Amino acid sequence: MNNEKKLNHWLQDIAGDYPLMIAGPCSAETEEQVLETALKMVDKRVQVYRAGVWKPRTRPGSFEGVGEKALPWLKRVKEETGMKIAIEIANAEHARLALQYDVDILWIGARTSVNPFAVQEIADAIKGSDKVILIKNPINPDLSLWIGAVERFYQAGMTNIGVIHRGFSRFRAGEYRNDPNWQIALDFKSKYPNIPMIIDPSHICGRRDCIYDMAQTGLDLQYQGFMIETHINPDEAWSDAKQQVTPTALLKIIDKLCLRKQEFQDPETIDKIAFYRSQINQLDDELLKLLTERMKMAEEIGKIKQQKSVAVLQSNRWDEIMHKMLEKGSNLGLSEKFINRLFKAIHQESIDKQEKIVKNT
Ligand code: PEP
Ligand code: MN
Repeated sequence: MNNEKKLNHWLQDIAGDYPLMIAGPCSAETEEQVLETALKMVDKRVQVYRAGVWKPRTRPGSFEGVGEKALPWLKRVKEETGMKIAIEIANAEHARLALQYDVDILWIGARTSVNPFAVQEIADAIKGSDKVILIKNPINPDLSLWIGAVERFYQAGMTNIGVIHRGFSRFRAGEYRNDPNWQIALDFKSKYPNIPMIIDPSHICGRRDCIYDMAQTGLDLQYQGFMIETHINPDEAWSDAKQQVTPTALLKIIDKLCLRKQEFQDPETIDKIAFYRSQINQLDDELLKLLTERMKMAEEIGKIKQQKSVAVLQSNRWDEIMHKMLEKGSNLGLSEKFINRLFKAIHQESIDKQEKIVKNT
């Protein structure tokens, strides 16, 4: 993958000057649902129609997709709307059928990209094909596993490659269904800048009310496209009902998305920004100096703790600092969350330094 010149510009061929938009239902359910959804979203800014045909579900007993019989429905979508079509494939047999029905874009789901055997089996099955292959991030936050899956397709001679950031499974419930873990996706992007990165706000958010914001964040981070689950009647969807939007809502999201400039342009603004940035740089230097001073004091205390055999961690003192800082911070307009994070980090560094002294390392 290092010689990325070999990768094709499939994205431009499909989306032209627009960001790529792949939209359509989580699952193909019936021929009517597939067709009605597609016909309501015909727009030059929606170039690809997606639908899950085989659904890898976490627990047995959930709807597992209608299978091969949905493939002719998708072919009809292609013929009647001109959109390209995309499905998820999870094994060699799915790959074979996708090629047989001339599906344009094949994606590897998050539960498949974790499994090198499955990925290799699929790569062998579509070896050398000119189809577009999109690899979703694995459900666990492991950059190498994601890169490894992409490499398997690259080594199989595929040159129309892209990746989809759909977030990572989390242990506890949080704001979103999946943790975006932006750093992993951004690390991928900086390592492989020629592989298009697409955001899947539907699976990150898990609920429809934050899809626009998540998509805009992706755009601001220079992602090149979106995958947004869209259903003619989302509340009645057979899978992922909470996160799907109607075709009308999808088009509204697209209207609202705004391609923000990456750089300031007029000289006056550039000067102003440069001034504030130089002030910030100076303040950052001062902050570092102050922090170093603070650590020196903590180290002095560490030495005394060692001489007098006193424990490093003194929770009363820590509670006292935190309490005082929260109060002062709130008077200064700093959020409780920020003060908590900041002082926990500072405190941890002090403890680490003192422990080093106490343990004589
Ligand atoms: C999907 O796109 O419907 C899907 C199953 O996604 P993921 O693999 O990201 O969970
Ligand atoms: Mn889904």
